[in-house]
Amino acid sequence: MGDLLKGISSFRGAVFPNHQALYRKLAEEGQQPQALMISCADSRVMPETITQSGPGELFVCRNAGNIVPPFSTANGGVSSAIEYAVVALGVRDVIVCGHSDCGAMKGLCHPDLLKPMPNVAAWLKHSHAAHSIVCEAYPSDLSERQRIRAIAMENVVVQLDHLRTHPSVAAKLATNDITLHGWFFDIQTGEVLVYDGAAARFTEIHEDRPLPVGVTGRGRPHVIPQAGE
Ligand SMILES: [Zn+2]
Repeated sequence: MGDLLKGISSFRGAVFPNHQALYRKLAEEGQQPQALMISCADSRVMPETITQSGPGELFVCRNAGNIVPPFSTANGGVSSAIEYAVVALGVRDVIVCGHSDCGAMKGLCHPDLLKPMPNVAAWLKHSHAAHSIVCEAYPSDLSERQRIRAIAMENVVVQLDHLRTHPSVAAKLATNDITLHGWFFDIQTGEVLVYDGAAARFTEIHEDRPLPVGVTGRGRPHVIPQAGE
C-alpha cells in the first residue's frame, strides 16, 4: 500500500495543482462524460489510459470479464451504471472493452479453476454463449492462446447483445440516440481492435476512416407505420 499512499501524495502535490481549474469546473458544473465504457477489472486494462481520457470524460464500469448481464429487475451494479449513464447523463456511446489474456475467459475454459470461487463461476454464466460459440464454431485445433483470444472477442459481441436488452438502451437505439461499440485491447501490443457489426469482424482502427461501430440505431423508431411515416 506504500506505493499507493505515495501516489496520493504525488497527485495532491504535483498533479492536482496543474488541473485545479478543470476539477473546480467539474465540481461546480457536474460531469458530462462522452461515453460509458464497460471494461474488465484486470489491472492491466486502464480505460482512461487506453483512450487518453481525463477527469470527467469517461464514465467507467469495470468487472471481471467486462460482462453486461441481460436486463432483469434484480438490482445490479452494471445495470445501474448503464441506466445512470444513459438516462441521467445522456451518454450517446457505450463501449464494451475486452482484452487479451483475460483471466475470466480462461476460467470459462477451465471450470475446475472456479471451484473455490462460486461467485465468479456464477457471474461468468453471462459469458457461456461466447465459450459455446468458440467450442462449436471455431476450428478444434486452436492453441490455448488463440482460443482464449477468440472467446474474449466473442464475449464482447455477446455483451453487446445483452446491452440491447436494457430498456434504457433499447429505447435510445430505437430513436437512433445511442451507438454501441465493441473493443478489444491487446495488452502485449497496446493495440485496440474495434468490432465492425456490419462485417461481424474485429478490425484495426484507421484514423483517416470512420470508426467501425458494433450496433447502431435501427433506423426508424416504429415497427408499425405511424401518421406521417
Ligand atoms: Zn479480463
